[in-house]
Amino acid sequence: MVEILFYLLICILIINFLLERWLDYLNSTKWSSELPHELEGIYDDEKYKKSMEYEKIKHHFSTITESLGFLTVLVLFATGAFGWLDNAVRSLAIKNPIHISLIYFAILALLTEIASFPFKWYDTFIIEERFGFNKSTLRLFLLDQVKGLLIGALVGGSILYLIVWIYLVAGNLFWLYTLVVISSFSVFMLLFYSSLIVPLFNRQTPLEDGDLKDAITSFSLKTGFLLDNIFVIDGSKRSSKANAYFTGLGSKKRIVLYDTLISELNTEEIVAVLAHEIGHYRKHHVYSGLLFSLLSTALMLYIFALVSGHNAFSQVLGSDNPGFHLAIISFGILYTPLSLVIGLGMNFLSRVNEYQADRFAREEYGGQYLASALKKLSVSNLSNLTPHPFYVFFHYSHPTLLQRLNKLKEIM
Ligand SMILES: [Zn+2]
Repeated sequence: MVEILFYLLICILIINFLLERWLDYLNSTKWSSELPHELEGIYDDEKYKKSMEYEKIKHHFSTITESLGFLTVLVLFATGAFGWLDNAVRSLAIKNPIHISLIYFAILALLTEIASFPFKWYDTFIIEERFGFNKSTLRLFLLDQVKGLLIGALVGGSILYLIVWIYLVAGNLFWLYTLVVISSFSVFMLLFYSSLIVPLFNRQTPLEDGDLKDAITSFSLKTGFLLDNIFVIDGSKRSSKANAYFTGLGSKKRIVLYDTLISELNTEEIVAVLAHEIGHYRKHHVYSGLLFSLLSTALMLYIFALVSGHNAFSQVLGSDNPGFHLAIISFGILYTPLSLVIGLGMNFLSRVNEYQADRFAREEYGGQYLASALKKLSVSNLSNLTPHPFYVFFHYSHPTLLQRLNKLKEIM
């Protein structure tokens, strides 16, 4: 049994890695030095060359990092390093199984952070810098990493503590109680993420008085979205890339516009982006997203509860001690194919939602303004406008620019 599981997990790791490389390769077959005909008028030649160069560098970089990540996991798994670490933690004379699991995950998380640090640094200060995107200083970058680690330890640690405790005491109903914990946490985060977590990294301010605010006020009144819920965030302190998003539930809902978006687009284009975000609110996309993720969490927890008690899940990692943390690692690998399928569903739902929000913006404000905003944003973010359809199917949470423009034209 252990041997079968061992080879099964190795196969899953390898197939998953090869699938990703294949998708990446497919994307690279779409590279072309000439501006494709359907992109005429969106990119000028020079910007297009720059976007191709950006795309290629990002591709090579991710090939290297993902290959290294894959090899590391494969070697750690095959050599029994995960089981060895479990024995090492236990040899510290820690008896409480919850503490053992927490220390185990803390060590893994810290090692992952240390190993990925140089790559994050390279991505920010070499690649993004070279294309003029990076605005972060080394100090801000380091501070971000430290804050991220501390929040992860505090929030992740507490949730984990609760889940391991439930695992130890709840028996058959583990999956249900854990589902309640995770659902409550997700709703709590939707309500308070913007007021508790975001301020640790960014400043959010109400819109300044002026033409933009006037234009937004009249539009938001029309669509029943309160101006109090619209904020500008100082994204420019890290990157020149522009963005906007809708988040939150009920009275805690908010639309956040990046200051970089405001400086790049004209008033009509900004209102069109805002209209798109209000579309997400009016079409209840937060609820459908939440429901989908809770259903998939329920499924995962249920399967985990069914199989995780089996000793093979820790033995396959090289340890004879049954434990939550070891079961999670082997189960995590075993679950990869199903998680891939669920990810496909999630991305599909998200792309459908994007079309709906675009449609709302077109009907309530004006498709031509949204189209011109999307074009400008794609150009300034050097987006890949010609990804392979398979790659889009697997990885894109948004339709491509051309798909969105065509759809806007269709319904215009
Ligand atoms: Zn959207």
